[in-house]
Amino acid sequence: MSETIFTKIINKEIPADILYEDELALAFKDISPRAPIHFLVIPKKPIATINDIGEEDREVVGHLSWVAAKVVSELGEAEQGFRTVMNCNEFGGQTVYHIHLHVLAGKPLGWPPYTEKLKELE
Ligand code: AMP
Repeated sequence: MSETIFTKIINKEIPADILYEDELALAFKDISPRAPIHFLVIPKKPIATINDIGEEDREVVGHLSWVAAKVVSELGEAEQGFRTVMNCNEFGGQTVYHIHLHVLAGKPLGWPPYTEKLKELE
């Protein structure tokens, strides 16, 4: 797959506000936060969309949720609650084609998450 901006963040070619890193995953603050706390958890392996997750990726994809909960807990938001979201393709609102778990916290979150941009696609 073609390289995205997230590969550059993994390779430290561009800066990011990194919250957690290990051999499989990286968590960093979203550059355009939609909540008081908004960070992304990505696999270091580039996988374009949820549709491209292979059987061999089960461990790393599960690991993303573990990292999300760990970082939220360290930020003191676990008990109050939070949301994880992974968008897929155009109708899902995906803009960066390297899978990423959005983690939003710090305020009550509306449901469903509905934006004007998505409304246009209906
Ligand atoms: P999505 O629209 O689900 O593909 O989400 C992509 C997310 O990546 C958006 O919330 C962007 O604000 C975020 N993003 C894009 N570029 C950067 C960057 N350089 N650093 C941090 N977050 C970014």
